[in-house]
Amino acid sequence: MGNTKKDIKSMDLEELKREMEAAGEKTFRAKQLYEWMHQKLARDFGEMTNLSKNLREKCREDYFFSVLNPLRIQESKVDGTKKFLFELSDGNTVESVWMKYKHGNSVCISSQVGCRMGCKFCASTIDGLVRPLQPSEMLEQVYAITLLTGERVSNVVVMGMGEPLDNYDNLVKFIRLLTDENGLHISQRNVTVSTCGLVPQMERLAEEGLQITLALSLHAASDGKRKKLMPVAKKYTLDELMGASAYYFERTGRRLTFEYSLIEGVNDTGEDAMMLAELIRDLNCHVNLIPVNPVKERGFSPSAPGKVTAFKNKLEKNGINVTIRREMGRDIDGACGQLRRRELHR
Ligand code: SAH
Repeated sequence: MGNTKKDIKSMDLEELKREMEAAGEKTFRAKQLYEWMHQKLARDFGEMTNLSKNLREKCREDYFFSVLNPLRIQESKVDGTKKFLFELSDGNTVESVWMKYKHGNSVCISSQVGCRMGCKFCASTIDGLVRPLQPSEMLEQVYAITLLTGERVSNVVVMGMGEPLDNYDNLVKFIRLLTDENGLHISQRNVTVSTCGLVPQMERLAEEGLQITLALSLHAASDGKRKKLMPVAKKYTLDELMGASAYYFERTGRRLTFEYSLIEGVNDTGEDAMMLAELIRDLNCHVNLIPVNPVKERGFSPSAPGKVTAFKNKLEKNGINVTIRREMGRDIDGACGQLRRRELHR
């Protein structure tokens, strides 16, 4: 965090109550503080006018108040998507994306600065992991964007930079705070967490009693092919991943999403589609297809539109639910991690 003060925006209501008690304050102060931070989205203790000046001063001395400020905002001319580059308190930067859909506004947030998973097509992992994000720093991406756009956020997807399940405790705390009735109260059903497939954490997540959607990044339907694209496939086989996916559905009743990025000449043939259909046929799931977003350093090309459609048709013929994901903000470095890289190299 770059400082030793306690991070007050990462605390749940119970923790805040204990803090107030220890400070000799009435415990209802905790609820007031909590609402200022998580409902009214205050940017500073100074705004919290129903707290005494003394308490506000004391809070400022004792606690770190996490706020993210935008370094850059890019707006797509095609679809109104906005991409934000935020500066963290230690000078690191993260990316978040705001997307406007008919059914509401969606924010894609980052869970780590950098990433250590090493997927071959991804820009976020090129320089490895810098550090995980605190719950407050994940929340702040949603809060700052709500304030900057002046519009309510209804969906949150953890699909930006980083592997969320590699930052497990902070992620789960973030989800509980984000969906808490005393905060923004975003519906758990409108929260999606995307993972490259960390099996033990997927199983643990199934036990949390959360109603969130789990998205699994597959990108290949054979272990051999997947290992070439995603180093994590050397650790967990597709068999184990399908087991963890079935378990997630069994425990939560939530249908899974499988992400499949189509890469020209790598994973986009009819045979690939057949293998995918075969692999997931017994699961209650939905497939999202997206032509891979070319990343300068990576050298992969997206499959041609005709191949994407053929792949989709093949899956559908085999009884799989599938959508081709609309590419949002292609003209503004839509692929996660690209805006930050450009900025670093400036
Ligand atoms: N680490 C998590 C979430 C972050 S990435 C995960 O792996 O799921 C969100 C999605 O974008 C993942 O499915 C990821 O594989 C995919 N992705 C990363 N780089 C991409 C690119 N250049 N083109 C298309 N999809 C990409």
